[in-house]
Amino acid sequence: MQLALLWAVCLLSGHLALPLPPEAGGMSELQWEQAQHYLKRFYLHDSKEKDANSLEFKLKEMQKFFGLPVTGRLNAHIVEIMQKPRCGVPDVAEYSLFPKRQKWTSRIVTYRILSYTSDLKPAVVDQIVAKALSMWSRHIPLRFKRVRMGTADIMIGFARGGINFLYAATHELGHSLGLGHSSDPRAVMYPTYRTEDSQSFRLAQDDIEGIQKLYGRSYFRRR
Ligand SMILES: [Zn+2]
Repeated sequence: MQLALLWAVCLLSGHLALPLPPEAGGMSELQWEQAQHYLKRFYLHDSKEKDANSLEFKLKEMQKFFGLPVTGRLNAHIVEIMQKPRCGVPDVAEYSLFPKRQKWTSRIVTYRILSYTSDLKPAVVDQIVAKALSMWSRHIPLRFKRVRMGTADIMIGFARGGINFLYAATHELGHSLGLGHSSDPRAVMYPTYRTEDSQSFRLAQDDIEGIQKLYGRSYFRRR
């Protein structure tokens, strides 16, 4: 029995300070602080390589990840990306967050909803979780079974927020299945949360290829 992930990691980068060279002037001190905090939090290195932990190095990693020109210098566009609501899991980490649990080896994975949010009725939360699970399970030979007591493989908790819950739940379940962040802006595994209409929400090709690399294809395609 093992806990995979407790979901509650939506955050708006709040307090973030430091001497990163600006491309253009006009950054406030708070924005410098926010940039420093963001880079330290989401671009982790366990490397002894010189400068691997410098903010400039981390900023270049971020620019690479988001497909931006790799200048090592801050600008207003980067600050704007840093201020979007996003997942709390790092984009680059040279060590695994789930060291011995890259993927589930059982074909049936249990889940339990531990807490609800006051933003939505419990029945709606149940539906959202079921839909988020089916987003993944329709593509892979893995089934999810709900349990209401004890320890499940995946323990799910909801935090308050204005975010699209289906999108965020699908994203966080992707992590608990073993996926990291994607650089593809169309992918649900992209680190910043989208607020699009949940009815039209689908996994992107990048998500499907990623999850099938871990688990293989579904034996039959479910609608
Ligand atoms: Zn994430």
